[in-house]
Amino acid sequence: MNIVRVALDLPLPKLFDYLAPDSDESDIGRRVTVPFGTASRIGVIISLTQASEQPDAKLKTVIAILRDMPALPADWRELCEFCARYYQTPLGEVTSFALPPMLRRGKLPRMPKVAAVAPAPPSRDTVPGAGARDITSAVALPPLLAAQAAAVEAIVGARGFTCFLLHGVTGSGKTEVYLRAIDAVLRRGGQALMLVPEIALTPQLEGRVAARFPTAHVVCANSGMADAARARGFLDALGGRADIVLGTRLSIFMPMPRLRLIVVDEEHDASFKQQEGLRYSARDVAIWRAHQLDIPMVLGSATPSLETFHHAGTGRYVMLELPERAVAESMPLVRIVDTRREKLQEGLSAALLGGLQKRLERGEQSLVFLNRRGYAPVMACPPCGWVSRCQRCAANLVLHLADQRLRCHHCGFEARVPRACPDCGNVDLMAFGRGTQRLEAMLAERFPEARVLRIDRDSASTPKKWQALLATIHAGGADILVGTQMLAKGHDFPMLTLVGAVGADAALFAADFRAPERLFAQMMQVGGRSGRAALPGEVLIQTEYPDHPLYQALIDHDYDRFARNQLEERRIAGFPPFSFQAMLRAEARAMEQALAFLAAARDAAAGFANGITLYDPVPMRMQRLMTLERGQLLVESTSRPALQAFLAAWMEKLYALKMPAGLRWHLDVDPLEF
Ligand code: ADP
Ligand code: ZN
Ligand code: ZN
Repeated sequence: MNIVRVALDLPLPKLFDYLAPDSDESDIGRRVTVPFGTASRIGVIISLTQASEQPDAKLKTVIAILRDMPALPADWRELCEFCARYYQTPLGEVTSFALPPMLRRGKLPRMPKVAAVAPAPPSRDTVPGAGARDITSAVALPPLLAAQAAAVEAIVGARGFTCFLLHGVTGSGKTEVYLRAIDAVLRRGGQALMLVPEIALTPQLEGRVAARFPTAHVVCANSGMADAARARGFLDALGGRADIVLGTRLSIFMPMPRLRLIVVDEEHDASFKQQEGLRYSARDVAIWRAHQLDIPMVLGSATPSLETFHHAGTGRYVMLELPERAVAESMPLVRIVDTRREKLQEGLSAALLGGLQKRLERGEQSLVFLNRRGYAPVMACPPCGWVSRCQRCAANLVLHLADQRLRCHHCGFEARVPRACPDCGNVDLMAFGRGTQRLEAMLAERFPEARVLRIDRDSASTPKKWQALLATIHAGGADILVGTQMLAKGHDFPMLTLVGAVGADAALFAADFRAPERLFAQMMQVGGRSGRAALPGEVLIQTEYPDHPLYQALIDHDYDRFARNQLEERRIAGFPPFSFQAMLRAEARAMEQALAFLAAARDAAAGFANGITLYDPVPMRMQRLMTLERGQLLVESTSRPALQAFLAAWMEKLYALKMPAGLRWHLDVDPLEF
């Protein structure tokens, strides 16, 4: 009797058996419609069997095996199985997530008619089953710098799995190295996959890739795409028609039968880790996938994650350094502005104001970087003590004067700005602290002749608005930019010669041990925006801790020194990469319920937690979100296999625990946020 085992998108760690009389081996990896309860569901066939653990009488029959697209290949299923195992997530949830929504629903996009492809010319060094393509570059390429050439040679010459760390500052020519390596892969008839952190960065990169490989089929993949386009891209990749896939983290799940190279640009970026549902790290999964396929991969960054840097240091990864900028003569001059003895004007130092003035006179652009949007982080009534709190979260409502709103940046709650204090009627409410809107207003007043442009998630709320803002900057339509980290990533502003960083100190002493690493990366990134053309750039960092080693390393552009210091601190404290972590989080109506569940979970680990440290359940730093109280329990081990084995056994116990109504929990493996 033919039985198919199906992965269904349900929060249960098991497969579901169905009778499928007409099924055979070729159906493994196909989508299938099955009856479930009173309805039907769509899943993926994972295997065939002749005998189910369920009694035959209970087995239902599949409704239909969907044979209208190629079956998902074995390596793709193995990738999903790895993620299910590693991230302790039911396989059906993984396969469902890995499919574009349209295919997940059992539908297919309308495909354009594919012109018959001419048979491939025979070639020596090609991938079997695929033709080497004539991928001639449209443009005359500049000669590579020696370091670039060495990097390309190493990557192209790699046989089998090797993980390279391409370490070089913004503008050192990393992208050029990726493109040359991709070129070599395409010439051999392979496919290349390139991951970037942000949707906003894809159009720009897509343009560069398309210009370089005019005859190649480039597919983009990100969650902002229309359903049909995303599904088409997936099918093009699966069918081997796509030469290059370019996308955000989810593109790591693109099936690519001839995949020969994976590139993860800005590998340190936190957005490669998904913070909900399947909490995977696309960078880590990429490394697993490259290993699985025995192909080379490249992690690129100016400020690698400390995990990656550590592996490059121990020789697990191969370090490729690009020590110089490819075009501009020099790195920006970084200066620290000691604000301890100065009376700041609306948060800005005389040095920064003077720098802005000078740029205005010279007709150059400046950027004031402040990673906090809105006008002010909180509104308050000093006489009675009222503050604008979110009713649903343990957070303040942020004042947005631009549209007269109070907004929670965590849950999206919003209200009109009250005319008077809701508690005592006082009409003199005060705005405390400073966000980008306030800086914008202050700068406009201070420099009336300047065109001030604010760039944050409010002013660039859609990709279209964002593109328009970028166009304005490039056309020289702004003198002073005020922006959040949105501006920090991946854009060249040739006329920008001054960057001022305000409010950076907060990250120095944050509770999260990764905060300094993020601050350093962010500062390097914003600094990298300046002085990329003929004009030298300057970066001014306002701080009350001018001697802090982090800032000192920034002055010297010395990532290595910073990283070694941090790694030493982490080693002493036993933090990653010297230990491996998982976080169990629970949310409930009441904090006691959440903590009680976590305590029970901890008790349930008794007896098999060898080599594992389970910490005390504690409330999360953001204690309440959307009216739910949240707690967490950290699990740690110096051995990844030990942690993995423990988590697998623990999950079974957790599924069996009794839970109060309304309680929800999840496990986050390799958590990035605390
Ligand atoms: P990164 O990705 O490290 O920021 P890019 O590859 O984008 O660096 O290179 C930065 C700039 O330098 C780009 O304008 C690129 O075209 C140019 N460039 C890169 N390599 C070279 C080279 N070998 N010769 C001349 N220009 C180069
Ligand atoms: Zn809220
Ligand atoms: Zn009041």
